[in-house]
Amino acid sequence: MESIRCLILGGGPAGFTAAIYAARANLSPVLYEGIQPGGQLTTTTIVENFPGFPGGVDANNLMDRMREQARSFGADVRSGVATAIDLSARPFKVVIDGEKELAADALIIATGATARYLGLPSEEKYKGAGVSACATCDGFFYRKRTVAVVGGGDTACEEALYLASLAKKVYMIVRRDVFRASKAMQEKVFATENIEILWNCNTQEVLGDGFGVTGARLLRKDGTVFDIDIDGFFLAIGHHPNSELFVPWVETDAAGYIVTEGKSSRTRVEGVFAAGDVQDPTYRQAVTAAASGCAAARDAEKFLLEI
Ligand code: NDP
Repeated sequence: MESIRCLILGGGPAGFTAAIYAARANLSPVLYEGIQPGGQLTTTTIVENFPGFPGGVDANNLMDRMREQARSFGADVRSGVATAIDLSARPFKVVIDGEKELAADALIIATGATARYLGLPSEEKYKGAGVSACATCDGFFYRKRTVAVVGGGDTACEEALYLASLAKKVYMIVRRDVFRASKAMQEKVFATENIEILWNCNTQEVLGDGFGVTGARLLRKDGTVFDIDIDGFFLAIGHHPNSELFVPWVETDAAGYIVTEGKSSRTRVEGVFAAGDVQDPTYRQAVTAAASGCAAARDAEKFLLEI
């Protein structure tokens, strides 16, 4: 069994930032990148709102730079997925890919969240080519164009409002005849002229020309099938925090997000810290994830100095 001082699970902005800080603090961090190396950001194209990159930066390139920066300070970045875990006593036991056993003095969980998709093959085909689960990331590319947002919750309304400020027209595809979103949010949507709500509709297929999205085929509850012309198809049907593995030990909220103590990254297990989207149902931005990765490394450093 390999002994590790500071183990970081997750290779998104939170994990890499934690690795940068932990390496600079001589904690000899080992980071496993998990299922999606580079994290959720790699499902988008250009990132224009990460500070320090006027003109934007390719999302994969940004993550490559974070990985390189972590490595340059001595972080040991590896590929592999944590498949089993035991946080009942220190050192914490973690199994990678079902075979490699690790014993960690401190653990930073930065496994992120996964946006929910409808699960249509056509949606998968156009991911990153018109299909997106992040209006803040990709909305800018649809200035003066027509887009659709799927969902009727606060996120869908927020994303539709954001997109309506850029796009010519926004359709909201809502599967029931009511929103789940708060009244305040609903009122804002109703008051926005270029948002058209398609009630009682489900998406049958995302239409495209092989290069990008050109439309969507919808099925209304009354059985009518019709097409809409769109350039972008945004999913806002919720996120799912990647916290299942840790649930028996750390506290999670009703939606599965790991609960941390106050402004810190501390979970209820001493020596286990959480950073990024796995503990943040609210902001979910690369820059906020990075900031919480920094906090987790600082908290882990303090913990390791005291034990
Ligand atoms: P929610 O779970 O609140 O809403 C999900 C929406 O997606 C619902 O309208 C749901 O429909 C719909 N949906 C789910 N699955 C499908 C599907 N397969 N096909 C079509 N539609 C589907 O998620 P949110 O991400 O919107 O919000 C998560 C939490 O974050 C909430 O508590 C929300 O209040 C909060 N939030 C608050 C914000 C704010 O206050 N500014 C901003 C964003 C989020 P149905 O209603 O029929 O189930």
